[in-house]
Amino acid sequence: MKGKFPMEAFAERETPFYYYDAALLRETLRALNDECRKHANFHVHYAIKANANAKVLGIVSEAGLGADCVSGGEVRTALEAGFPASKIVYAGVGKSDWEINLALDNDIFCFNVESLPELEIINELAAAKGRVARVCLRINPNVGAHTHANITTGLAENKFGIAMNDMEAVIAAARSMKNVRFLGLHFHIGSQILDMGDFEALCNRINDLQNNLEKRQIRLEHINVGGGLGISYDHPNHLPIPDFKAYFDTFARKLRLREGQQLHFELGRAIVAQCGSLITRVLYVKQGAAKKFAIVDAGMNDLIRPALYNAFHRIENLSSDEPDDIYDVVGPVCESSDVFVKAYSLNACHRGDLLAIRSAGAYGEVMANEYNCRKKISAVLM
Ligand SMILES: *Cc1c(COP(=O)(O)O)cnc(C)c1O
Repeated sequence: MKGKFPMEAFAERETPFYYYDAALLRETLRALNDECRKHANFHVHYAIKANANAKVLGIVSEAGLGADCVSGGEVRTALEAGFPASKIVYAGVGKSDWEINLALDNDIFCFNVESLPELEIINELAAAKGRVARVCLRINPNVGAHTHANITTGLAENKFGIAMNDMEAVIAAARSMKNVRFLGLHFHIGSQILDMGDFEALCNRINDLQNNLEKRQIRLEHINVGGGLGISYDHPNHLPIPDFKAYFDTFARKLRLREGQQLHFELGRAIVAQCGSLITRVLYVKQGAAKKFAIVDAGMNDLIRPALYNAFHRIENLSSDEPDDIYDVVGPVCESSDVFVKAYSLNACHRGDLLAIRSAGAYGEVMANEYNCRKKISAVLM
């Protein structure tokens, strides 16, 4: 089974380009909201870094989500896309002064603070403006995630967050500062997580931390469990929408929230990955010494995930129904890692065929670069 694509519209476009399926994005957001709204105190912030395309952001903000930002540029982009400042959270280990000032000037909902020195600077900059910055502390919970090593973030060895041993001292510091208001704790353990057991482990950790804090009369108004829900890269056609019910139910069952406590989520990939495909054309079919190559006009600069994370993306030949042949699908960039997939079965390829590289809506267009002086490609949402 292949995905359905507007082939007539594609025929007129210069390749390669990103294609976003607006109907699927809207359906995904509906499914997300339906499940989230079963829990009155759950709030979802869309992780801007997964896909910052203006049209995609427009649809996501229309659906009423908040925004999760990791830079000043993202805070600005989120505001321009219509996300209300009152629903913007901002994390990042290295926030520059101008970025903090921008967030203060716009009175965003919350800074997710990743170190004591950062907290001190936020307090100082807020004082200079006569403001009070709302903060959550990002805690490194030392919880592993069964995902690619480069996309785990919640292990003691990772650069993110405040170590659990330092947590109480930093909370005390926050509560003593005049220009910050301590709201609660933030966590984010990694990305492309499909094993709900990983999120359960996070819940267990938070339950323990919360019990200990309560013994010291420290109450959390807000808990933010980050994002990381994965998608099916193998079966985009059969599983186009992630299991949001199982995800939210895991937190509802396992996390022991206190009366009135608000729970925040920061989902990126799960919302936008499946609605995007990278559409590329076969330039040449080359018989090498040992294998056949389908050489396409998209490269690792357009979609870097396979080269960077060894990530798998399903590929479909939209122009051919001929019996399958086996190809390495490769780009034109002068790097041996410019390979989308190896030894892969595709309907026989010919020069000019259109291929869809699926599940490319997250960490695709946003990570594109101009290596080899290749211009950034266009994107179309239909
Ligand atoms: C990247 C990121 C997310 C989103 O991760 P996904 O895997 O795309 O859901 C959420 N929170 C923080 C702090 C992040 O850095």
